[in-house]
Amino acid sequence: MTEVSALPSSRIDAHAWDRAHEELVATMRELIRIPSVNPPDPARPDGELLAAQAIAAMLRGLGLEPEIVEPVPGRGSVHARLRGDGTGGEPFLLLSHLDVVPAPPERWTHDPFAADLADGYVYGRGAVDMKDMIALELGVIRLLVAEARAAGLDPARDPIPGLRRDVLFTCTADEEAGGDAGARWIVQERPEWFRAAGAVNESGGVSVTVAGRRIYPIQVAEKGFAPYRIVVTGTWGHGSMPRDDNAAVLAARVVERLAIPGPILITPVMVRFLETVATALPARVADILTRLAAGDPAADRELEGTCEPMYARTLRALVRDTTSPDVIHAGVKYNVIPGEAILEVDCRVLPGTTEAEMRAELERRIGPDLLPICELQAITWGEPVESPAEGPLWDILAGTLRDHDPEAVVVPAMPPFATDAKSTVPMGVPTYGFSPLRLDPDERYLERFHGVDERVSVDALRFGLPVLYDVVRRFCG
Ligand SMILES: [Zn+2]
Repeated sequence: MTEVSALPSSRIDAHAWDRAHEELVATMRELIRIPSVNPPDPARPDGELLAAQAIAAMLRGLGLEPEIVEPVPGRGSVHARLRGDGTGGEPFLLLSHLDVVPAPPERWTHDPFAADLADGYVYGRGAVDMKDMIALELGVIRLLVAEARAAGLDPARDPIPGLRRDVLFTCTADEEAGGDAGARWIVQERPEWFRAAGAVNESGGVSVTVAGRRIYPIQVAEKGFAPYRIVVTGTWGHGSMPRDDNAAVLAARVVERLAIPGPILITPVMVRFLETVATALPARVADILTRLAAGDPAADRELEGTCEPMYARTLRALVRDTTSPDVIHAGVKYNVIPGEAILEVDCRVLPGTTEAEMRAELERRIGPDLLPICELQAITWGEPVESPAEGPLWDILAGTLRDHDPEAVVVPAMPPFATDAKSTVPMGVPTYGFSPLRLDPDERYLERFHGVDERVSVDALRFGLPVLYDVVRRFCG
């Protein structure tokens, strides 16, 4: 293991770290106070643009020359580049998104857009998804710029001392709704904002304490999404004379079949995840995870009573293609038998499952008796993606976490949801969910995502900044 004193971050003195942390927390609070909600709030539809402008102003304040694009009015993305000397190959990308999901304030104990600092936590929508990471990335940029200035250099033009690759900072709009006004547009119109030898992004590098062990999943893969609309056809009629082919009744049968968990499908990332986590856990849980890694359906059911419901639910979603029937529309009046019902089903597919395979699985589940009255329409398709859990960047991400937390158990992982990696991985940019935070053992981080009282602790951010700095220095050095 590398000595901590050998870390690039150890060259920065304690006062500079204190200042960097204060600025990081202030940056995050400033960004949370800009409600960059997606879908945009009609009363304030330009939240993402305002957030992009605020970040651009910070970058300009550092002497950089950021660029903003606004493919749809009010929907801004922002980008800046720090130069390396060009001898180290393709750039390194610090990726993030500006938008947040809405936050109805009713059940919050703090105003979701006030960025209150209480009990060592910053509260607010975006605290973990993902204004924390934007602030960490800007924190690293600030430190690099300070080093350039200390050497008498112009950070907008001159290579940053010690950087052999460029560092790209790209912060997108519209991640929470698929990226048409953000990452997908950038792929088409500003691909140089993404083109890199590797990228770090949200949802990974965050500690989860299980049975007293700190596990740090680094996201290497993510599931694809395949929502379908299913039109179920019955026969219209008078409610006084019930019919078997009432579309609402037929649709209910379809829904029941789709709600049954599908067969287990273990991908290579999950084998490695389950086997590594098993080595860190007590024998009883380890046994279940090891059997699950081998595809044992009994282990899948045993998860339910063994680990916390949230973990069980997440794990069970990661070992199968999932189908969640979430919308049912049928009927016009209580005394009219509906002749048509419309279902919408959220299907999430593992790396390796194609759209055609997902459709075939839906048809199999609906069954030959009901299939003739069902018309399946794909609403959209988001490819599952995967980056290698090996190679120089992976080694740096895992090794740097271990250097900063010698007890870290680092595992490659896959979240059940999608991120902007959907846009960067197909461009050939290995993209890792890595927004380093060391959390209190009791913090329910996963529940904060899109949840009530979203928050992040100042101490967790304090851990993250030197980790991210060292990753950038090591990969670009
Ligand atoms: Zn996010």
